[in-house]
Parts: sequence; C-alpha cells; structure tokens
Amino acid sequence: MSFPVFIFVVGVIHGVLIFFDSFFKSCMHHPYRAFLDGTGFTVKFLRLEWYTTALNRTLVKFSTSSPRLLSKSFDLGVYSTLLLLPASVVLLLWSFFSTWSQREDEVSSSGGGVKMEVEILVPGVTLPLDEIHYFLVTLLVSSVIHELGHAVAAVLEDVPLLGFGVKVYYFLPVALTELNSEQLMGLRAWRKLRVLCAGVWNNLVLGIVALLLLQTSKPLLGWMYHIDRGVYVTEIERQSPLLGVRGLQTGDFIKRINSCEVRDTDSWYSCLLEALKHQPAYCLGSEFIHRHDESTPVETVDGIPRCCDPDTAANGCFEYIGESDILEIPQHVCLPIRLAVESSIKYCSMDTKCSHNSLEGFCLKPLLSNSTTILEIVRKGRNVIYMGHPGDVYRTVRVSNFIPKLRYITPQFADSLTLFLRYLVVFSFGLVLVNVIPCYGFDGQHIAGVVLGHQLSRLGVKAQRRDLVILLVTVFCTFLQIGLITRFLIKMLF
Ligand SMILES: [Zn+2]
Repeated sequence: MSFPVFIFVVGVIHGVLIFFDSFFKSCMHHPYRAFLDGTGFTVKFLRLEWYTTALNRTLVKFSTSSPRLLSKSFDLGVYSTLLLLPASVVLLLWSFFSTWSQREDEVSSSGGGVKMEVEILVPGVTLPLDEIHYFLVTLLVSSVIHELGHAVAAVLEDVPLLGFGVKVYYFLPVALTELNSEQLMGLRAWRKLRVLCAGVWNNLVLGIVALLLLQTSKPLLGWMYHIDRGVYVTEIERQSPLLGVRGLQTGDFIKRINSCEVRDTDSWYSCLLEALKHQPAYCLGSEFIHRHDESTPVETVDGIPRCCDPDTAANGCFEYIGESDILEIPQHVCLPIRLAVESSIKYCSMDTKCSHNSLEGFCLKPLLSNSTTILEIVRKGRNVIYMGHPGDVYRTVRVSNFIPKLRYITPQFADSLTLFLRYLVVFSFGLVLVNVIPCYGFDGQHIAGVVLGHQLSRLGVKAQRRDLVILLVTVFCTFLQIGLITRFLIKMLF
C-alpha cells in the first residue's frame, strides 16, 4: 500500500465512523449515549478520543507505594531535563542554521565527513510504510509512558489527577493526563518542575532501557538462536531471479558469498557489494580446463572479449590473470560457469598463487559486464550459483540475523522484537527532544517558564518583564521549530 492510499483509507474510516456516530446519535440516542459514556469513547471530526477516570485510583496507589524512591527518581528527572534544556536549544539553533544555509548542490555532494541532522519521521516518507504498525505502537507506548510520568509525579505532589486518555489525530495516537492545573501552578518551583519534567524523564529512562535491551539482544536471544554464524532466508519475493529448483529457499542458512564470510545482515549486504566491486576469479586445474574448454576465436564486443558460442548461455568466457608468460592453456577459455565454480580449487586474484594441497591451478576470471557478477551462495546443502546483478538479490531476498535452534521457533519473533526496540529507542529519545525544547504547546514551554521565572525573580526582575522574556524565548524557539519543519517539507516535496 502506498502512502496516499493509506491516507485515503484512514480518511474513509473516519468518514464511516463520523457517519455512524451522527446516525446513532439521532436514531438510538440513549443506548448509544450510554455506550459512549460507559466506554469513554468520543468520535470527532478526523479524531477519536478515549478518556477514563478508572485508572486514577490505581495510579494513586502506585504513587503512594514507594513515594521516597519515586520522588528521588523525579528529582533526577529535573536535573537531567535542566541539563538537556540548553543542549536542545543549541541543537535546534544548529540544525536550523545548518539546514537553511545548506544549498541543494551541497546536500547531494556532502558524502564525506560526519553529518548530524534532525530528521522528522513520517511513515511512507522517511520510514517504510510496511512498518507503520511499529511506528504507531511505539508512538502510543512512548506517549503513554510519558503521560504516566506526569500523573505519578502529580499524585506525589498532591496535585489531583482528573483523568487519563488517548486521542488519535487522524492516525497518530497521543496520550494525555488531565491534572488540576490551578493546584499545579500553585506549587513551589522545584515541586512544579518534578511534575513538568516527569514525562521527559520517563521517556529518557524508557529510551535507555530499550537501548540496553537492543545492545544485549544477541546474547539474550542466544539460547533460542544461532547468532553471528550466518543469515537465515525469511522471504523471497515472487519476481526474484533467485527462486527456482536450483535457487534459494525460505529457511536457507547462508554462510558465505564467494570468498566473503556472511556473519549477519550487515555482512550479507557488504558481501553482495563486494561481489559487484571485485568480480571473483577461480583456480582451475589444467585437466579440467582442457576437458571442458569450448572456446571459439576471440572477438571483442562492447570492450569485452568473447570466446564462447553466444547460443550456449550456460558457458562463459574466462581469462587467465596470473603472471606466468608460458602457459599450457590458452589466454581465453570458454567453460561451463556452474561447473567451473563448483570445480574450482579456491578463489584467487592477481597476487595469490593458485596452489592448494599439492593441487596446481590457473587463476581464471570470467569476463562479464560491469553490472554482472557471479555469486556462489554457500548455504547448508548444495551451493546456489547465480549470475546477475547483486542488487537483484539485495532487493528480493529478506534475511535475518537469527537462525533458529529449534524447528518451531521462527526468526520473525527476534526480528520483530529488535525492530520494536529500535523504534522505541528512536521515539523515546525523539519525545525527550521534542518536549524539552521551549516550544509553544510542549512541556519545554512550561519548564523554561518556571526556570526563567524563578531565576529572573531572584535577580529582582519585575513580573511583567519576566513574562515578556519567557514569551520571547518561547516565540523564538517555536519560530526555529516551524522553520525546521518547513525546510523538511520543502526538501520532501521538491
Ligand atoms: Zn509532557
């Protein structure tokens, strides 16, 4: 499904919901109202809401279970937020000026050097749409954990908790905690900061926990899976040239591509790239060459010497690439590709000698176009030999790092878990960054307000001037944030 189709489908769902909502409200007024009141659901234009007060008691119970520990934890939250606040403003300024001062030609040519950029995550644009469910679940989890932070901290500071809910804006879920704002504003600065910074703190802790779990996922899952010993084929697309009797199959366990050892998905991709950059050459014995050589007079087509009958597709023209001048074989030989790869003593290059266990051979390299190479995919069972572009393999074969030790375990479980953790890290730290910047409508606005107000009042600045400074800081940061988003939209659309 493409992104516009997804947006359309969500729009249709909203349309159907709003239609039935109006219909039931006019026809079955009382039962439908009772249903809405009982469940806490509300249907609004392009928005769904769920609100409950049922969690209030549980949250109060939890908050009062170990108040001292939680208070200390929220103190840490205030310290870390106060450290992150100036850092986030510096990052915002830096991102703003570096993205707006970057010309288009610099964007495309800035290959080298370290480059840091704040990127806005949009499913279907900067994130694959087939991972939309990870996107939505992690956004919901991070948002709920954030709001629970505010709720628990508020209970500890004796601020009454009014309710908890989730709003779905079009398709984006956002959790919310409703507090008694008058009582919150009446608190002293540090206690107020505990409540305001608790959301950011919870996201920071969640992000660190998810990151630690992600870093240790390989040893943690080691009892179920073989790790760093190859890759497991999870899916082969229908149009893949690798499908077929002699091709790859789902469940294959791949250990090597040509002479490149495959340990995990990263090395799988780098081995495919390596195969394209350096076409392989093979050590072949003279007896094999003499027995199978079917060479025709050498002709050069498109700069590549040809020595095979064009009708025999299974054969390929090989060139001797060793240093010896006196040869007992021709410079160019036409050999059956599959058999030559399977019968080779070992892989070779210009610099390596073609001898192995008292077997002497000649280093021969198949003469192929730049976009074609030979891949010998070493798996459990018979090796797969493929001649073509490695990009076709990259695009149409999905592999996993996790090779199940038992038959009833699938690599999908470990893959989904690590992907979920990766999203959780990104969203948790993303929410920390978004909420810590003193931008209009976010936690950072209130946090900066309290901090600046407190510091300025200590310096003897009058209330009116204090409010003006806070307003200017918020407007300035909001302007930078809007500027960054605008730049991102321009880059995305043009
Ligand atoms: Zn918050």
